[in-house]
Amino acid sequence: MENARYLDAAAAPAPADAAPPASIPASPLDAPWHNVREKLKGEVGEVEYRTWLRQITLGPLEDGELVLYLPSRFLRDWVRSQYEERLRTLWRAEFEEVREIELQVKRAQAAASGSVAVPFVEEESESPESAPVSAAVAEGRNDLAAPLDPRYTFESFVVGKPNEFAYACARRVAEKPSSPGFNPLFLYGGVGLGKTHLMHAIGLELARKGSVSVAYMSAEKFMYRFIAAIRSQSTMEFKEQLRSVDVLMIDDLQFLIGKDNTQEEFFHTFNALVEAGRQIVVSADKSPSDLSGLEDRLRTRLGCGMVADIHATTFELRISILEAKARASGVHVPPKVLEYLAHKITTNVRELEGALNRLIAHADLVGRPVTLDTTQDVLKDMLKAHDRRVTIDEIQRKVAEHWNIRLTDMSSARRARAVARPRQVAMFLAKQLTSRSLPEIGRKFGNRDHTTVMHAVNRVSELMDQDTAFAEDVELLRRMLEG
Ligand code: ADP
Ligand code: MG
Repeated sequence: MENARYLDAAAAPAPADAAPPASIPASPLDAPWHNVREKLKGEVGEVEYRTWLRQITLGPLEDGELVLYLPSRFLRDWVRSQYEERLRTLWRAEFEEVREIELQVKRAQAAASGSVAVPFVEEESESPESAPVSAAVAEGRNDLAAPLDPRYTFESFVVGKPNEFAYACARRVAEKPSSPGFNPLFLYGGVGLGKTHLMHAIGLELARKGSVSVAYMSAEKFMYRFIAAIRSQSTMEFKEQLRSVDVLMIDDLQFLIGKDNTQEEFFHTFNALVEAGRQIVVSADKSPSDLSGLEDRLRTRLGCGMVADIHATTFELRISILEAKARASGVHVPPKVLEYLAHKITTNVRELEGALNRLIAHADLVGRPVTLDTTQDVLKDMLKAHDRRVTIDEIQRKVAEHWNIRLTDMSSARRARAVARPRQVAMFLAKQLTSRSLPEIGRKFGNRDHTTVMHAVNRVSELMDQDTAFAEDVELLRRMLEG
């Protein structure tokens, strides 16, 4: 597509590092940008806004995509992970030409010359913002740790084969922190399998006993606090605070990958605590040895205590979890429905829980019992995403069977309509039912070019419009493949 560059006053043709002209012509983006900023400030608060968002500058708007600049990669990544969604929504509401936003790094002009690729800490020298940030740290002084979710207890955690070992380790640490062999405790597993739940359970149990001080926070929060401390020159206080706890829990450590300075700080904190006989609990999405990008010495240290893996759920565990959650909700959910859910939603517990909650909320709202029918209806879109993945091989097989051609003709060079048409249908279905790209699909069909696949997709849609019998055939195949 041509560059439909219709609005880029803000990113005028001036070279990136030239001084801005004395008077920049007003851009139609100025007013909405002002409004977006005011709204953001209102939502996130002055301190948060000054720390992270004030340094955003406006780039060009092109083909509906608006570029926003940040002066460093670190800030860009942070804003992307925390505020991108909000920025997009606010922009769309303010200025309808904006459909997407793209966050890019553009060094602040004063710092542009002579600045090497510096880690994030360097930002403090560019930023005159230390006053409000130190306020953030001051606020944080009382709540260094994130609050614990009172629902995430050991009692509400359903134990089964995939998580029994991790559960036992967590219980052990909660009973007797800093036991030899259990320090650090490293919990790992995929998303939504209960790592955070177990960490909170440890914290809640210890808090209940009240004898030790516990700090739980995500690695992201750790980093945020650390940087805020650097900016406000209060790293000593930050360190002391951290090193004064009995149990330090850091969730989602994989977030520190590539953040060398924060890793370094964590490493020192870690050592100081362990040497002082305090307990460390860490979670991550991979085992220490698979966390590439983590400094070797930190990785080695992390693997020194107890490493416990939470495995993917089994059908039995999913059923037990659903039973427990349904019971707790007080709404009757028939066993058939629970089985259905446990079969259909296999990814993780969070989604399983989400599905059940939706059913329960629905039943509550309409005042009718949960049945298999209502379940299928209420969860239609959710379940669709969980339908099993169809492979191109399956598609080829089914389509070949349907029109009685040889499977090898899916990749042969024969062009007779009797084989070419089914082949096109198979390509069409491959595009519809799998996430493969056109070139990938082409390769599976005898190394055909992606343009051939594109042509097939278009041709089949055309034919479906013209010929209802053909459309029904294709539709039937699609439904069979989707199972
Ligand atoms: P992770 O931190 O591993 O991504 P979470 O601990 O946030 O996962 O778990 C996701 C959701 O699933 C939470 O609501 C949690 O309570 C629930 N959950 C996970 N595992 C279990 C379990 N074994 N028993 C009960 N609830 C669970
Ligand atoms: Mg988690």
